[in-house]
Amino acid sequence: MTTREINAQGWTRRSALTAGLASGGALALGPRAQAAGVSETEFVSGLDGLARTIQGRFLTSGSRGYDEARKVWNLAYDRHPIAMARCADLDDVRRCVEFARRHALPVTIHGGGHSYAGFAAADSALQIDLGAFNAVKVDKHRRVASVGGGVRIRDLLTATLAEGLITPMGSCGDVGVAGLALAGGDTAGRGLFGTACDNILGAELVTADGEVLELGPGRNKDLFWAIRGGGGNFGVVTRLDFRLHPAWTSYVAQFDFGWSDIGGALRIFGDLVRDVPDAVRAGFEVDGQSGASATCGFIGDAATAAAYLERWKSSFRRVEARMSTFTPDPKGEVWTTTSVAVDGAFLDGVSDGAADVLARAAMAGRGFGDIIMGLSNGVAARVGMTDTAYPLRGTGLSLLLSSEWSRPEDRARSEHWVAEYGAALRPLARRAYVNYIPPSPPERIREIYGVNYPRLARIKARYDPANLFRSNQNILPASAA
Ligand SMILES: Cc1cc2nc3c(=O)[nH]c(=O)nc-3n(C[C@H](O)[C@H](O)[C@H](O)COP(=O)(O)OP(=O)(O)OC[C@H]3O[C@@H](n4cnc5c(N)ncnc54)[C@H](O)[C@@H]3O)c2cc1C
Repeated sequence: MTTREINAQGWTRRSALTAGLASGGALALGPRAQAAGVSETEFVSGLDGLARTIQGRFLTSGSRGYDEARKVWNLAYDRHPIAMARCADLDDVRRCVEFARRHALPVTIHGGGHSYAGFAAADSALQIDLGAFNAVKVDKHRRVASVGGGVRIRDLLTATLAEGLITPMGSCGDVGVAGLALAGGDTAGRGLFGTACDNILGAELVTADGEVLELGPGRNKDLFWAIRGGGGNFGVVTRLDFRLHPAWTSYVAQFDFGWSDIGGALRIFGDLVRDVPDAVRAGFEVDGQSGASATCGFIGDAATAAAYLERWKSSFRRVEARMSTFTPDPKGEVWTTTSVAVDGAFLDGVSDGAADVLARAAMAGRGFGDIIMGLSNGVAARVGMTDTAYPLRGTGLSLLLSSEWSRPEDRARSEHWVAEYGAALRPLARRAYVNYIPPSPPERIREIYGVNYPRLARIKARYDPANLFRSNQNILPASAA
C-alpha cells in the first residue's frame, strides 16, 4: 500500500479519555497501563508515539472511520480495540508488536476479517491490520505463489488461474488466505493436492519479540510445523508461499431431497463416501430454506467422471441428478456481511447416531439453520497426524452448523439451535475445524488438537510466552497449559 493516512487528529490524552468514557470504558486504559507497569499518561503518550511512527493509517476510538474499521464480517461481534494500525510494511508490524509486548497489550490480527468468531477485533487490544499486505506473485515455472498476509482468496486465484494454476482454497473469494490456510483449510481439491496448509512451502513471520523469521523445511522447523494448522497463535505472518497445481474442472452430480427422509439420504451418502477415489469432492448440505442435497464432483476427464457418477445416480435413484461442470472461480460464492452463530464437528463418517442427530437438526432448523458438510479425503487424509499441527487427518467430514439472523429478536433462536445440535454432535466428534467453532475454552482447543497440543503449547511458550497473540482459538503457552 502506498497510502499514508495517519489519523488527522492524532492521539491525544484528551481524545483517549473522552472516547473511553463515551464507550462505557471499553478502552480500559487504566488497567492496560497498570498491566504494563506505567502510568496512564505514559501509556497514552506511548500510543501517541506509536501513531506517529507508523507509516500506515492509525485509528483510535476518537478517530474518524474507527467504527467502520473495527467492524468484522460476523456482525454478532461488536468489539472495541484500543487502536488499529493498518501496517504499511514490515517495520510497521514490528513496531506494533514491540509496543504491544512492552505494554502487555493483546494483539489482534486482521487478515480478511472473515473469522466466524470475529477474532480480527478484540476489546482493549491493538489490531494489526494487514490489508496493505495484498501483493500476489506467481512464479509459473517453479509453480509457487507468494502472497502477503492480508491477501484474499479472490486475489490469489485471479493471479494463479491466469497462468492455468491453482492451490486448494475455500469457497468464498472475500475470505483471507492466511486466516484460512494457517488453521488448515476446508478446501476444494484436497483429495488430489492436500489441503491449504499442506501446500504452504514457506512463510515470513514476525514473532512476539519483533523478530522477522523465515520459515520452511529446515528453517525454524518448529514454527513451520506449528503454523500449518495452529492458526495465528505464533506471530504475524506477513508472507506465505504456496505450491501450485494445474487448474482443474470437476464434473458434478447434485441430488436434491428437499425435506423428505433426510436421515435416509445421509446414510446413503455415508456409504458412498466411505471409500472414494482421490479425484472425488463430495458434500452434503441442508439449506434452511430449501432442504437437503448431496453433491459429488469428480476431477478428471469427462468419461471417467461419468462412469464414476453412475454409482451415485443409482444409489440416489429416488431423485434425478442435476448435472453440471465446475471450474474454480476466483470470486467464489461471496457471502455478504451478516450476524451468524456457528459450531463445527469433524466426523469420521456418517454413523447411525450422526445421521439421527443431523436429521433432527435439519428439521428443527427449518427456515433458519444450515448444515454444510464436506468430505476430506485422499492426499489431505493421508498426511500423518503429527506431520503438521493440523489435526483433521484420516478420511472424514468437516461439518459446519450455521444460523444467520437479521432481526435482533431472532438471535436467541439461532444461537440456541447451534448450541443444542453442536452439543449433540460433540460425543460423536471430539475434533472440529478451529475456523468453524465459536470462541472456545482451552479444554476444547486441547481436545481438538489432541496429540499435537503439547508440542504446540511448547512452541507457543518459546515464541509467545506472554500470549500476546490470543485473539484466536488459543493455544496456551506450555507453562500455563
Ligand atoms: C463466508 C465465509 C466462507 C468461508 N468459507 C470457508 C471455506 O470454504 N473453507 C475454509 O477453510 N474456511 C472457510 N471460512 C472460514 C475461514 O477460513 C475463517 O473464518 C478464517 O479465519 C478467515 O480468515 P480471515 O483472514 O478472513 O479472517 P480474520 O478475521 O482477518 O482473521 C482471523 C484470525 O486468523 C488469524 N490470521 C489471519 N491472518 C493472519 C496472518 N496474516 N498472520 C497470522 N494470523 C492471521 C488471526 O488469528 C486472526 O485473528 C469461511 C468463512 C466465512 C465467513
